[in-house]
Amino acid sequence: MYKQLINFIRDQFKTDDFIPLHAPTFVGKEKEYLNECIDSTFVSSVGKFVDLFENKVAEYTKSKHAIVCVNGTNALHLALLVAGVKPSDEVITQPLTFIATTNAIVYANANPVFVDVDIDTMGLSPKALRIFLEENSELRNGECYNKFTNNRIKACMPMHTFGHACRIEEILSICEEYKIELVEDAAEGMGSFYKGKHLGTFGKIAAVSFNGNKIMTTGGGGIILTDNDELAAEVKHLSTQSKVPHKWEYVHDNIGFNYRMPNINAALGLAQLEKLDFFIENKRELANVYSSFFKEKGVSFFEEREDEKCNFWLNAIILKDKKERDSFLDESNTSGVMTRPIWQLMNKLPMFKDNVKGMLTNSEWLEDRVVNIPSSVRL
Ligand SMILES: *Cc1c(COP(=O)(O)O)cnc(C)c1O
Repeated sequence: MYKQLINFIRDQFKTDDFIPLHAPTFVGKEKEYLNECIDSTFVSSVGKFVDLFENKVAEYTKSKHAIVCVNGTNALHLALLVAGVKPSDEVITQPLTFIATTNAIVYANANPVFVDVDIDTMGLSPKALRIFLEENSELRNGECYNKFTNNRIKACMPMHTFGHACRIEEILSICEEYKIELVEDAAEGMGSFYKGKHLGTFGKIAAVSFNGNKIMTTGGGGIILTDNDELAAEVKHLSTQSKVPHKWEYVHDNIGFNYRMPNINAALGLAQLEKLDFFIENKRELANVYSSFFKEKGVSFFEEREDEKCNFWLNAIILKDKKERDSFLDESNTSGVMTRPIWQLMNKLPMFKDNVKGMLTNSEWLEDRVVNIPSSVRL
């Protein structure tokens, strides 16, 4: 039934072999930098590639600071901690996201609260956010509280789904109005811009992921973006076991973490970053081809919005209903073209089933219909 769609996807990759959803591409100086790293013996958490990588990511994103972490999940964890999230606080996020967003909130001993997404961005809906806050919150001594649970609502963490920008400006202005810190989960957003501004540079602080399946990779890794000098220093300190600089003594002034990215991962990342614009151009071309084809076939494709320049990390189509979705998933995966449904909603997982939430109509609608299709760079 979906043979035509599946064949078309296969044709784009010019192979009869299995087609993964997203494979990394190494066509730059990866081996050269890794060899240099090994020859220098600096393979761990100190070395020139770590600093170089941080500087280059800061330059690319036009963020004042970029601080590396061992992965995107703990980058989010640290971002929440330095944004001031304390035990028992509530952090508003979307239910339609990868588990790491929600887990990071729990690592900070806070409570994830689920608010609906917009259909066209698949990211947190400013409209739903405002309704939730109007109905549930009140200001107490200049801080936002949930008047039913009596917990402080300290932060809001929207996610930029598959590299598409959520309505981040509207979300920011609501957060300012309600005295809530904006922490962006820009894990999927490396290389994506909204109104010329890189995703993850709108709120107080953000995290990007460089896991193996993301648009560029350090093997495992993540980075924190912020313009705030104090937060940047605090994050770096926390990520290096809260060690106070001293010529020889081990002095630690806080419970820190061993979260700093090793030099060897940063070396890989630097080579990848040098190819990022090529990856994006290549992927935008594929998205274009997909878009015209699916339009012709009457299948809805996750398009770029106005003012957005999307990295098109993972392409997505929206099928008619769950039954169609499941048949397409079955038929494509059986024929060696890897496809995946969007995530199960967080509020349906056993750990989060009793969490505070708003109306989640759009999230539920998307959960039943969205499928990711192969999106790797084509050489
Ligand atoms: C990948 C991802 C993360 C976590 O990144 P890791 O580097 O895998 O820890 C967090 N949030 C979202 C939305 C992601 O897609």
